[in-house]
Amino acid sequence: MSSPVIDAWLAANLGRVVGWRRAIHAEPELSMAEFETTATVVRILTEAGLAPKVLPKGTGVVCDIGPADKPRIGLRADLDGLPIPEQTGLPFTSRVEGVSHSCGHDAHAAILMGVGHLLAEYLEAGNELPFSVRLLFQAAEEVMPGGALDAIDAGATDGLSRIFALHCDPHLAAGTVGLRAGPLTSAADRIEVHLRGPGGHTSRPHLTADLIYAMGSIITGLPGILSRRVDPRSGTIMAWGAAHSGDAPNAIPQEGRLRGTVRTGDREVWKDLEPLVRSIIGELVAPLGITYDLTYVRGVPPVVNEESSVAMLRAAVDLIGPTAAVDTPQSPGGEDFAWYLETVPGAMARLGVWSGVGPQCDLHQPNFDIDERALGIGIATLAGVILGGELA
Ligand SMILES: [Zn+2]
Repeated sequence: MSSPVIDAWLAANLGRVVGWRRAIHAEPELSMAEFETTATVVRILTEAGLAPKVLPKGTGVVCDIGPADKPRIGLRADLDGLPIPEQTGLPFTSRVEGVSHSCGHDAHAAILMGVGHLLAEYLEAGNELPFSVRLLFQAAEEVMPGGALDAIDAGATDGLSRIFALHCDPHLAAGTVGLRAGPLTSAADRIEVHLRGPGGHTSRPHLTADLIYAMGSIITGLPGILSRRVDPRSGTIMAWGAAHSGDAPNAIPQEGRLRGTVRTGDREVWKDLEPLVRSIIGELVAPLGITYDLTYVRGVPPVVNEESSVAMLRAAVDLIGPTAAVDTPQSPGGEDFAWYLETVPGAMARLGVWSGVGPQCDLHQPNFDIDERALGIGIATLAGVILGGELA
């Protein structure tokens, strides 16, 4: 099966989309500073006769297409690069030192601009769209709490009946789209514990408060107790990334710091996670005479894909080809698309970008790259949701 409208548009225009992607790729901008990328998106959408609007903070764009009296569907892309120096050796390698599009947001933006052009031309040719559409190019996906909240504050989700997004996935081959109903990503919260004690000589730990012993209790105790207090089927995982204290072998230090993350794929578990972590750490440290501050930064909730929205994506992907849709597992990574799904039903799909040759370099790696055939698959998927014309 295929869609003649989408196929014809891609045959004539995919080269342009590749050019947009490469231009954005070469000039990546960090979160909340995507001013030039925003200007590029505005210029390219305007070329299609569309009327994009810049979001209040000057980064990010919304653009409505089609009649306002039909159910409105949101399609979301993100714009920011990462503070990672690029090492792909591509001719369009980042020209910005220390910054790269190593999460594929350049591809997401180019795909959504392609969908905008395709739909604009479809309308111009005298056709009607079955839905009203809102293109949303969001800033700052890579930082917490994330640009999605700014977009929502600016009214980007007002009046939407569904919202969809794609994210590049280097574990899937180009030509495939990974779909999953239910949880797709995980909530990711950050923990920092700053411990303090009087310090002392290691010959007399009973006369002071043993800060290193307290750190050890938290390091092993928190993940262990969480695994006995939270259903393991929720995909909850706590791990430390940093532990710093002390120097001399015979001195009990006065200060120490621990940093880690706690993740879960279950929305209900996430709601209660902060008080649970606080009480476990409190009880682990209580007998030891150590004082501490706990900084708990809540990240994003898990992306939980709504079943009928996944059915709409599946119907769109089935237009591309019989083998395009694949099942995809839940990942422990976080994604701020989740904020939209707090109020609007919808789904995110994983867009296969691996060329099938060589290593599958992961997201956020200096050598991350995509197979640009995925750009056409992405456009066909999102345009297919709209032109498919039925709310599941
Ligand atoms: Zn990303």
